[in-house]
Amino acid sequence: MPEIGYGKRKKGFIFILSGPSGSGKTTLVREVLKCPQLRRKFIKSVSFTTRPRRRGERQGQSYFFVSPGEFQRLLKLKKILEHTHYLGYHYGTPRAIVEQAIKKGLHILLCLDVRGATFLKRRYPTRTVTIFIKPPSLSAAKVRILGRDIVAQPGELNRRLRLGKQELSYANKYDYCLINDNLKKAVREVKRIIQWTISP
Ligand code: 5GP
Repeated sequence: MPEIGYGKRKKGFIFILSGPSGSGKTTLVREVLKCPQLRRKFIKSVSFTTRPRRRGERQGQSYFFVSPGEFQRLLKLKKILEHTHYLGYHYGTPRAIVEQAIKKGLHILLCLDVRGATFLKRRYPTRTVTIFIKPPSLSAAKVRILGRDIVAQPGELNRRLRLGKQELSYANKYDYCLINDNLKKAVREVKRIIQWTISP
């Protein structure tokens, strides 16, 4: 494992997973946090978004689904720490959750786009660990995206794949880069990075 320079810090880390749509970030987060030893050291963050809810997504679990007006109100009230505009929708990380995690010495695992990852790495350079997740191929990403109902939106699949290609060019700016060609293996690798970072 590379030495990234977090000094003696072992608490209050911000782990960020980024990667193209269909790289399996959300599943990875869910699987990693199933581990009881890790779960008790982490706070779960749920982002705000203005995108419509997909089949199987639950309010307050997958995201806080809000209207564009509500999103702007939260921004004005400074309730959002960082935010992005992704394929026509707004996404934002609740400030309170991240600040609470840091205060309590707990860690946090977030799925953010490249913009969000860059922002948090600059803002908290010694506590942010960035992990880029690559799908084994763009066609594999396509199959994963087709498994959701977002293709109901005309053009959404192609827009996500196009943006995914651009996102791949940022992979080398991340602390770590993994290929998610096997879920169990990818879960093991993310856990290994986390354990290595937080273990005394
Ligand atoms: P999706 O619509 O597929 O759930 O998310 C689209 C993209 O937005 C993904 O890359 C996801 O990681 C990212 N994302 C989700 N929540 C946030 C957030 O709060 N901030 C930022 N910067 N990106 C987010």
